[in-house]
Amino acid sequence: MTPARRQPSHAPELRAAARSLGRRRFLTTTGAAAALAFSVNLPAAGAASAAELDAARLPGDPFTLGVASGDPLPDSVLLWTRLAPAPYQADGGLPARRVTVQWELALDERFRRVVRRGAATAHPEFQHTVHVEVGRLQPGRVYHYRFRAGRWTSPAGRTRTAPAPGSRPAGLTLGLVSCQRYDEGYYTAYRHLAQDDVDVVFHLGDYLYEYAVDSAGGSRGLPKGTLPDLFHHETVTLEDYRLRYALYKTDPDLRAAHAAHPFVVTWDDHETENNYADDVSETGGPADEFLLRRAAAYRAYWENMPLRSPQLPHGPDLRLYRRLHWGRLAQFDVLDTRKYRSDQAYGDGWQYGGPESEDPRRTLTGAAQERWLIDGWRRSDALWNVVPQQVTFSQRYNSTTLPSKLSMDSWDGYPASRERVLAGARAAGVENLMVLTGDVHVHYAFDIKRDFSDPGSRTVGTEIVTSSITSGGNGSAKPSNWNTLMTANPHLRFFNGLRGYATVSLGRELARADFKTVSHVTTQGAPLTTAASFVTEAGEPGLKPA
Ligand code: FE
Ligand code: CA
Repeated sequence: MTPARRQPSHAPELRAAARSLGRRRFLTTTGAAAALAFSVNLPAAGAASAAELDAARLPGDPFTLGVASGDPLPDSVLLWTRLAPAPYQADGGLPARRVTVQWELALDERFRRVVRRGAATAHPEFQHTVHVEVGRLQPGRVYHYRFRAGRWTSPAGRTRTAPAPGSRPAGLTLGLVSCQRYDEGYYTAYRHLAQDDVDVVFHLGDYLYEYAVDSAGGSRGLPKGTLPDLFHHETVTLEDYRLRYALYKTDPDLRAAHAAHPFVVTWDDHETENNYADDVSETGGPADEFLLRRAAAYRAYWENMPLRSPQLPHGPDLRLYRRLHWGRLAQFDVLDTRKYRSDQAYGDGWQYGGPESEDPRRTLTGAAQERWLIDGWRRSDALWNVVPQQVTFSQRYNSTTLPSKLSMDSWDGYPASRERVLAGARAAGVENLMVLTGDVHVHYAFDIKRDFSDPGSRTVGTEIVTSSITSGGNGSAKPSNWNTLMTANPHLRFFNGLRGYATVSLGRELARADFKTVSHVTTQGAPLTTAASFVTEAGEPGLKPA
């Protein structure tokens, strides 16, 4: 989150053109350039598009960026790696040829009881990333996996399948993370998370930041010249975004967290550009130019994340919202509040709400995703209905006198959208609504109120907002606006401005949230502290100190 820099004069003629052409046709027309740029660069189905490089001739260890797994299903896991003997080179240190990679999945960490093995192709068109969907697995099990290419073996990763559909697991612990700007600190929180006893990590956005990184890695303060110049400008092209993921993934603490736990990822703005909205760039400019950039960012995101094939991008489009289940204990409706949203009202930033922000035609989710969410709730038989997403859901005043300004980038800038979602939850009879959020670089715990402006109104759910891993630098436990926010928002139950992560344990009787913090990130080695813990009982929404 950074203050708005959008120009109010922003591309009015393009918006008008979009309206007059009809949105679909407009996107088709402007998307044509992006489609052209990106469709030619796919491996041909069933045929090799590039000659094969004998893995025995790899110039060095290709597993410099670690391994990952994600989106656990009851019978399947998704395994990821990327071959990059020279990760800070645009080509990763490999020729534009495909490489065969072996993988294996075992019940034990010594790989004595291997239950599946196979071969996958690392295509140069996908920057030698590998996505393996391993099926026919047993539900509710831990598995260990690794890759091999030539004489090189990857580090081993640990993952798990979800419990069987309809089963009633006793519990599940989630790790929540967001906002890991590389040049604002060390990933100490990830080092601790790798050791923590969680089943699945939810990444709630800002996996990378587009801003230039200097040769000292910003506030990491590496010896000058440590990082090459090619990181020292904002990411715009596909090559820029790919290189930036390589930079991030060379961090050993991030690699350790990926190897230790499966991740379920969703993006926010910075994986593409600060505070963009659909096809509207932060700084204005033609939509078709921005869509080219978005196509590059989305493609690099898919390549570098443990995502399945339904999330494969098509030009500037990628369907990231999706649903996962943990037996009947939890349903996860992972949202994308970036790609389909109306442009921020009043030029973005903190503004007074009014007719523009309150326009009922405005949406944060887009109509299709909103319908999908509410339909999914109607069919849900889960005890906990969890919504991992990006931006703060609960109302947040930053002044104790009214009217107060609100964040136009958050759900506060889209109140009609929020009201439709809450009404949909009510109508669907959703039980135990829990929203999981990132973006703001602080820990918050909120009671979600039926009417946020009335402290006496019913509590209808809880929102757990996790702080950043690094973004914002060291931070402080009690930021300067602490008293104001706590006073102005009685439904805000906890606020801490240090870096860290949160865990949420879902049980049959109650859910427990633990907010974990590190004292600093600009140097390594900070210990982990549990700053606060809350519980919320099944069937009785509202946070209580644990
Ligand atoms: Fe952020
Ligand atoms: Ca953000």
